Amino acid sequence: MRFGEGPESEHFEDRTGGGGGMNLGGGLGMILPLIASRFGITGILILLLGYCVLTQLGGGGGIIGGGGGGSGQSTLPADQGRFLKQVLGSTEQVWSQAFTQAGSQYKPTTLVAYTNYDQSGCGAAQAAMGPFYCPTDQKIYIDPAFFEELSKRFGAPGDFAQAYVIAHEVGHHIQNLEGTLDKAQASQARLGQSEGNQVQVGVELQADCYAGVWAARSGALEQGDIEEGMRAAEAIGDDTLQKQTQGRVVPESFTHGSSEQRMEALRRGLSSGNPSSCNYAR
Ligand SMILES: [Zn+2]
Repeated sequence: MRFGEGPESEHFEDRTGGGGGMNLGGGLGMILPLIASRFGITGILILLLGYCVLTQLGGGGGIIGGGGGGSGQSTLPADQGRFLKQVLGSTEQVWSQAFTQAGSQYKPTTLVAYTNYDQSGCGAAQAAMGPFYCPTDQKIYIDPAFFEELSKRFGAPGDFAQAYVIAHEVGHHIQNLEGTLDKAQASQARLGQSEGNQVQVGVELQADCYAGVWAARSGALEQGDIEEGMRAAEAIGDDTLQKQTQGRVVPESFTHGSSEQRMEALRRGLSSGNPSSCNYAR
């Protein structure tokens, strides 16, 4: 991607180094019960499956560092910080324009970069959860170590793959502003597990499609970017991840869509550049 002198978003919080985080000193095992007690099972579903993209990716604990807390000094390399801020700045431009065209006003989300642990409006944020959007405080949480994971463990390197992850989470923010997340949650509450998962898949595919819409309108795509994005979408499809992690595929447990569905959704947004083409509601 090439942003040139494109604006850097001001809605960015660098909490890497753990200055603002908390030190729980344990791994996922300690944090899950914490979430469980605070939100109940539904809370876990919302946090871990609901609005988290790529949740499964960190499952092996590959990027969990020891401790938390940290020195309070940012560990985010300057060029990566700039890249994240430019991606976010570009989503602000594109979505402001789209909202204005639709006769309303875009309210930006904030991107929080943290290391290992942090506190989100939806409870504990943990690197192993992968990047996620919290509808309560309207912020996106990501441990930048995730990008390394995406590149090395899941074979999806490249700056566009990273931008796609951010843009997907921004897509959930758009859904929040549009009321889609509330509606999806309400129908999930009515439905059984497997139908509820299908609703969730629709939400995730729409976020993928919105990421494509942003990319198409960003003016920042370079040769090879689309292939990078497709590789990432393929790598994080539920069937591909399930094959890798449990050796078999259980379609009714899909929450984000198969590799093929995710690639189709991203491609649809990329080729239409039009948010109204992203109707995956069920
Ligand atoms: Zn998602």
